[in-house]
Amino acid sequence: MTHSTAGRPADPTTPSTAERLDRDDPLASYRDRFVGAASPLVYFDGNSLGRPLQGTAERLARFVTEEWGGRLIRGWDERWMELPAAIGDEIGRVCLGAGPGQTVIGDSTTVLLYKAMRAALAARPGRAEIVVDRDNFPTDRFLAEGLAQECGATLRWLDVDTSTGVSAEQLAAAVGPGTALVVLSHVAYRSAWLADMPELTRIAHEAGALVLWDLSHSVGSVPMQLDNWEVDLAVGCTYKYLNGGPGAPAFIYVAAHHQGVLVQPIQGWIGAADPFRMGPEYAPAQGIRRFLSGTPPILGMLAMQDMLALIDEAGMDAVRRKSVALTEYAVQLAAELLAPAGVVLASPLDPDRRGGHVTLNHPGMREATAALWRRDVIPDYRDPEGLRIGLSPLSTSFAEVRRGLEAVAEVLAAPAR
Ligand SMILES: *Cc1c(COP(=O)(O)O)cnc(C)c1O
Repeated sequence: MTHSTAGRPADPTTPSTAERLDRDDPLASYRDRFVGAASPLVYFDGNSLGRPLQGTAERLARFVTEEWGGRLIRGWDERWMELPAAIGDEIGRVCLGAGPGQTVIGDSTTVLLYKAMRAALAARPGRAEIVVDRDNFPTDRFLAEGLAQECGATLRWLDVDTSTGVSAEQLAAAVGPGTALVVLSHVAYRSAWLADMPELTRIAHEAGALVLWDLSHSVGSVPMQLDNWEVDLAVGCTYKYLNGGPGAPAFIYVAAHHQGVLVQPIQGWIGAADPFRMGPEYAPAQGIRRFLSGTPPILGMLAMQDMLALIDEAGMDAVRRKSVALTEYAVQLAAELLAPAGVVLASPLDPDRRGGHVTLNHPGMREATAALWRRDVIPDYRDPEGLRIGLSPLSTSFAEVRRGLEAVAEVLAAPAR
């Protein structure tokens, strides 16, 4: 954080501090490209559903009139069939540190996680344990439970504090010769704990296990190097920091050297070697396309292309720098404005261990969230008593953070308003 040049740091709570931070922000002007940026609404939920970009409205309209309406079924041959892998490569290049041919847009996050987990389990015969943490996102835990029943595997649960996440020591103590698969979130949806992906991956590999990373809360917010870190499998959401719109389909990354070995369980015609041959039996496609199943959801892939282009223009490292500055500012404001009211930071204080959101705990947060929504301040609430402040780096200003946290203080002081 840069403070004023005078010896004493500037008071973070004053409007002039927020204005200065916005003035000094090299990415400040990107915010104007989002729909709704000019409104006074405070949006703290870009980690759940990113704002649309202005260019997206035109892209969607053009798609209906020109591509769908004009090309009709020819669109599949001309462009749509290639789109899942083409956008996958873009996500890989811009956000994941992944070379081409390893990322593809497919089904929902949940379904892709299932496919990846099932494929990984089958690739480790003689090992029957899945390691997963108790504070992982519900879909990840529920899938692991279902798979354990389906495949006769057992779950080894890691207990984690809801304000932090899985540490290297903890994982090292849990994995062993029986571990088939480790399922982890890169950024914890509740606390924003940023897992040490290269180190945890290394620990799992040392035990002979595969690792599946859920990138839903990190892709587009935290840079990563999936290829260099030798990640096996990863799945991530596109409607959060990739602004793909409600229900936009997810992506899966499968390291090239696993693609010929892993077998995914939902063998549909689109993942087959030659879909239009419509042959008598299933043979998987070469490469990443074999992780597809049915007809690609093309409409759902349109909007994310605008956000990917924007992130590419800004650069992931600059996006992360702004993200850290925003969460640091939120943490400072919370200390000044909210700690006196008993609010406790439920996210890592160290920005190197924190993703793009900040969770603030207080017994009154459930009611506070409802009151904030009525005032057009939109965070969300997560049990046990957390107010989750999501700060999508390219669409959030420092002034917005200040106004939002001031509103939280007001609502906590007078809950009935
Ligand atoms: C948002 C999120 C999901 C969402 O899964 P869907 O199938 O898209 O509903 C999964 N995992 C994590 C960690 C998430 O944050």
